Amino acid sequence: MLVNSAISPRGARFPGRYMQAAGAIGLLGQEAGRYGKSAIVLVDRGVFDMLEQPVSSAFRGEADVVLLRHGGECSERAVSELVARASAASVDVVIGIGGGKALDTAKAAACDLRLPVIVVPTIAASDAPCSALAVIYTENGTVAYDRFLPDNPDLVLVDTALIAKAPARFLAAGIGDALATWYEADACRRSGASNCMKMPGVPLAFEIARFCRATIFEHGTAALAECDAGRAGPAIERVIEANILLSGIGFESGGVAAAHAIHHGLCELDDVHHHLHGEKVAIGVLAGLKINGDQDEFERVRDFCLAVRLPTRLSDIGIADATEEKLAIVARRACRSGEIIHNEPVPVSEEMVVAALKALI
Ligand SMILES: [Zn+2]
Repeated sequence: MLVNSAISPRGARFPGRYMQAAGAIGLLGQEAGRYGKSAIVLVDRGVFDMLEQPVSSAFRGEADVVLLRHGGECSERAVSELVARASAASVDVVIGIGGGKALDTAKAAACDLRLPVIVVPTIAASDAPCSALAVIYTENGTVAYDRFLPDNPDLVLVDTALIAKAPARFLAAGIGDALATWYEADACRRSGASNCMKMPGVPLAFEIARFCRATIFEHGTAALAECDAGRAGPAIERVIEANILLSGIGFESGGVAAAHAIHHGLCELDDVHHHLHGEKVAIGVLAGLKINGDQDEFERVRDFCLAVRLPTRLSDIGIADATEEKLAIVARRACRSGEIIHNEPVPVSEEMVVAALKALI
């Protein structure tokens, strides 16, 4: 008889559905109506005033809607407040609109309520929207823990016109996060490490990660130019798909490694706090290529980072004086036992991380 421990599956996970268009927010009521007669919509406070009218009119004749302004934090309290408001209104679907914290609050609350969730990212600064992860913060804004949810969002609805109007720095940061996806997935593929489902990815996961890198390399600079002009042109359409969908599936199903481990290490330093996730991840990608001794690829990626306004040096992310002490703190956190840096195909020591970071001073 086959025992369970003898079965070693490969896997991949996906959002239920993904839709992308300029003006897609106009479809929100119709899409919410697939799940029931009433919805609660948590809107990022930064875009609430701009979106209150378009969201309300998108629901007219489709479903009842309660709109809430997000307080700004994704904390246990923010999640339970949304759960209470949604329960009181007996809604059928939870919707989050905005940046990562508003989306994560909606995802976590929908999980507690056992209701479907729709997320509508208004920036493409990371690959979090499609994922089954919510980062929970303390009330004073430091990360408390990662909450792994059983399911990915039921629908990710992406309005490219909204994202094109957001500052280009967000799009560039999303390119940084998407840049890591291939290198980390490939590291996991070569070492046989597990993905976010605690099993190796299926071959499709690595092809999506490869396509993600090819897309940002081809369209990254043109997409930033379109974003500067506030216009959802053909390049930004491609890069938004890469930043949100391809990178989202690629990292969850392919696996993560050195770039994000070094990102976690960099976050130990107060110096980097004004820099975005994807900006720090880009430094992690460059350091990871140094660790792997791949100089040709390092130069190719560094030139790409310069072209798409991503940092290439520690001083670009606020570390003006990269002392031995600071680099040791980063390396210690990055190389903790059980950390994802050990998904790399080569054994990685703290000394190797320090040496790689010194090459980026
Ligand atoms: Zn990331």
